[in-house]
Amino acid sequence: MGLQNDIENLFSFQKNEWPKLNESISILDEVREKQFNWGDNFSVKVQFNPARITSTGANTDYRHINGRPCFICEQNRPTEQKGIVFLEKYIILCNPFPILRNHITIPLHSHVPQRIRNKIGEMLTLTEKLPDYVVFYNGPKSGASAPDHFHLQAGLKVPELMQGDNELRSCLMIEGESITESIELFEEVYQYLRYQQPEEEEPMLNVITFMEDNKYKTHIFPRKLHRPKQFYAEGSKKLLISPGALDMAGIIITVREEDFDKIDKQDIEDIYVQVSLPIM
Ligand SMILES: [Zn+2]
Repeated sequence: MGLQNDIENLFSFQKNEWPKLNESISILDEVREKQFNWGDNFSVKVQFNPARITSTGANTDYRHINGRPCFICEQNRPTEQKGIVFLEKYIILCNPFPILRNHITIPLHSHVPQRIRNKIGEMLTLTEKLPDYVVFYNGPKSGASAPDHFHLQAGLKVPELMQGDNELRSCLMIEGESITESIELFEEVYQYLRYQQPEEEEPMLNVITFMEDNKYKTHIFPRKLHRPKQFYAEGSKKLLISPGALDMAGIIITVREEDFDKIDKQDIEDIYVQVSLPIM
């Protein structure tokens, strides 16, 4: 596996020369997790990952974004961070705040807004080259902490992330024999969702893609809310959770220990009801 090997090498190399990355990956080995099950067909893992606070708490307000230096643009990246060029316009980077094993971020070189419609084919091309990974996309109002600079993410497969539709939240599933077929099917789903949210520049969504049995799987999580009310609550009602693709699929990230200890099945059900867009 060419690209997967290159990524393994990138991690070995970067862990040696970038102490912060090495440390954050070792912390991930000891990360606390707890699991909740709904029958035999849906389980959610809750992860306590305090390093994610910057992303979870990110101010994605338009005015704030315009006033800050973009942390994805090359000139603002950590000097130690090196990458692998992909399709001559992306760069594959080790994520210094990992949730998954081999967590990578794949930004476009150019500073262009987070929009998936014309990039789903490139996302699937990456997926095809990374059969052991899930690749994911967070829409600008659905968990992306840099809505102004297009980027994908990926990490090694975890069963919770490949779960499809269930009674807790919606997931539209596409299974394609080829990238071309998948793009066509994605476009149909995209148009349907666009019709539901004509006021948005992009329908609110998260996308996860992965290879399974030589097929291209695309899971689309339609959204109706960026952050649940618990995010903004104060005191004992507060849960600092800002759902993105991984949370929607089945790995919920908590950044405060009190939230990790406190969160229960009812909270999870309630958060999904608030942020997931039901599909009739
Ligand atoms: Zn940028």
